[in-house]
Amino acid sequence: KANRKFHPEDTVVAVGKAKIGGGSFSVVAGPCSVESQAQIIAVAEDVKRSGAALLRGGAFKPRTSPYSFQGMGLEGLELLLEAKAATGLPIVTEIMSPRYVEVFEEKVDLVQIGARNMQNFDLLKEVGKMSKPVLLKRGLSSSYEEWIMSAEYIMAGGNENVILCERGIRTFETYTRNTLDVSAIPAIKKMSHLPVIVDPSHSAGMYWMVEPLAMAAIAAGADGLIIEVHNDPPHAKCDGQQSLTPENFGRLMGKVGAMVDLM
Ligand code: PEP
Ligand code: MN
Repeated sequence: KANRKFHPEDTVVAVGKAKIGGGSFSVVAGPCSVESQAQIIAVAEDVKRSGAALLRGGAFKPRTSPYSFQGMGLEGLELLLEAKAATGLPIVTEIMSPRYVEVFEEKVDLVQIGARNMQNFDLLKEVGKMSKPVLLKRGLSSSYEEWIMSAEYIMAGGNENVILCERGIRTFETYTRNTLDVSAIPAIKKMSHLPVIVDPSHSAGMYWMVEPLAMAAIAAGADGLIIEVHNDPPHAKCDGQQSLTPENFGRLMGKVGAMVDLM
């Protein structure tokens, strides 16, 4: 179902008023994790003003250490809904367990599968039964074939609104958090009709590298970007070092607009 051979035209995924794919470009922005009502509403208003079409924010966080902040859980989801009510932005947040499928079906506009769960096949099968579109992030060490097969798991269940997200992969290089695989954009678009967006924040791991990687992603044909933005990056509970301030995000969006027009 994901193969372009049997579906030559680009798939366009609609999330609220936002469209991703087939020439429509959208930016998802927001903090790594929801931390408080004031934080998520402030960031939502800032990113909306700068032109983001969707709001991201983790409520359930897949942290490497069990002692790190695990997210606000269902309370965080409610705060995302308040930010949506305040701004009108559709919300994107990660599902980590099949036990939350029902609540995500009711409340979330775009359901994120994180890199660490790309091959959690039980989760993929459950999300495949949902009616909400899915953002499938590439596994940290997954091949194109494995990634597309994970999309196939979701689509096989009847949910064909899948957006793929390149978020950097593990390589021998340690300077960056991950290595952005720019080749994934044209390669996946040749093999599949699904939209491909890029997460330069988790690729770089450093805020100052987000802009050049975002420009590279657009030049290579990405259908959108997902960017971490925080109102106080030094005090963020998660991924502060790679988060843009609202001011830097506004500057980035000026360049994104010019670059998208160029393409
Ligand atoms: C995230 O989007 O905050 C996240 C945890 O991303 P990934 O699954 O790509 O590491
Ligand atoms: Mn993050």
